[in-house]
Amino acid sequence: MRSVLIVGAGQSGLQLALTLREHDYDVTVMSARTPDEIRGGRVMSTQCMFRDALQHERDHGLNLWESQTVKVEGLGLSIAGPDSSRALDWFCRLDDYAQSVDQRVKMAGWLELFEQRGGKLIIHGVTTADLDSLSSMYDLVVVAAGKGELVGLFDRDDARSPYSTPQRILSVVYAHGVERRPEHPEFAAVRFSIIPGVGELFMIPAYTLSGNCDILFFEGIPGGPLDCWDDRPEPQEHLNRTLELMRRYLPWEYERSRNAELTDSKATLTGSYPPVVRKPVGELPSGNIVLGMADVVVANDPITGQGSNNASKCAAVYLDRILQRGSEPFDRQWMHGTFETYWDYAQHVTQWTNAMLQPPPPHVMDILGAAQHNEAVARRFVNGFCDPSDFQHWFMDPEKAAAYLASVGADRANSG
Ligand SMILES: Cc1cc2nc3c(=O)[nH]c(=O)nc-3n(C[C@H](O)[C@H](O)[C@H](O)COP(=O)(O)OP(=O)(O)OC[C@H]3O[C@@H](n4cnc5c(N)ncnc54)[C@H](O)[C@@H]3O)c2cc1C
Repeated sequence: MRSVLIVGAGQSGLQLALTLREHDYDVTVMSARTPDEIRGGRVMSTQCMFRDALQHERDHGLNLWESQTVKVEGLGLSIAGPDSSRALDWFCRLDDYAQSVDQRVKMAGWLELFEQRGGKLIIHGVTTADLDSLSSMYDLVVVAAGKGELVGLFDRDDARSPYSTPQRILSVVYAHGVERRPEHPEFAAVRFSIIPGVGELFMIPAYTLSGNCDILFFEGIPGGPLDCWDDRPEPQEHLNRTLELMRRYLPWEYERSRNAELTDSKATLTGSYPPVVRKPVGELPSGNIVLGMADVVVANDPITGQGSNNASKCAAVYLDRILQRGSEPFDRQWMHGTFETYWDYAQHVTQWTNAMLQPPPPHVMDILGAAQHNEAVARRFVNGFCDPSDFQHWFMDPEKAAAYLASVGADRANSG
């Protein structure tokens, strides 16, 4: 039986661990925290996942919360205009619903399931020295430790990393008591609001420790008015400040959120990190090598809500590659090939996400404006969150965008 050590109990590491157990691999997971510590800890993400990523979970019986979790049936986009007006505001249904299960719920539950499925769990915050002494005991070591310190093992890939500083300051609050948009009360939806020159607000229906809720997630341009969390406010003050910012910049979203209450005392998060792509093979002092996965190797800004989706897809690719390898060694060449198979897809997510961090260029404004009147455009945009590799064919390039808009009768000459 081949043995695999996975460091990090997040979306990617646990999905890979649980799916390898189905094939009787001898799998050890090292987690910095116990399931109860994860449940009792701070929120970590907004983790909205779309159909393709959710399907990987369904395929392996990992969708333990699907029936009780609110179905995100659509996505709406607004652009704030001057004087609290809306320059743009539209909504479109997704072809298949998305869902967000609080990672505190999911990772704690998956860790317990992993042990039930015969996996070995070691609770320990792993250091490079630990890895060095452990690595020769396993056929393969995978580092799935997110944005933690072990990323230092993996060199930055400059050619694939255009940014070296954080592009957004992040602020998250989980709340009960947010009402649905009056324009589509029958549908729970992600609402994506752009405040030009200031940042973005995402409102994401989700499932947390106390049931369904809504997440209020601000992405602030550094140095601007949403970059206001350096004092690490207490949770209630964090919520109050969030609502005040909504009242000022997005009053229509504030109106349905004015009765918001924190879901729990650990329901807030602030932070920032530079988006980065890293080389996939880490070398330990002994010369042994380890393979990085998901956020360790591709950490995009969460502005497009893709990191958990990517983590799920990365786990699916790595599973296939490990199974295909049979009893051959997991050597450097195999590790590079495994990452490049994932990168074939992930590069499109990174390029789209990096583009969304910039002020929208004219062709993107044309697309977002056309979507208000043209169902085909709106539908293609919202379903792109499920598979962003589609954006290369129309969204990412002014000429392709113009050709697509003309093909669906949504070019400027026809829109009105
Ligand atoms: C504010 C915010 C909002 C987001 N919203 C979305 C969204 O809506 N949709 C989406 O798809 N993605 C979203 N993401 C991104 C998503 O959360 C991550 O990309 C995803 O969780 C990455 O999964 P992972 O397995 O690579 O790492 P993680 O989920 O970070 O898991 C890594 C695990 O490793 C553990 N660990 C770290 N170091 C060590 C160590 N030395 N020893 C042992 N364990 C260790 C950590 O404690 C953690 O449990 C968001 C991220 C942020 C910050």
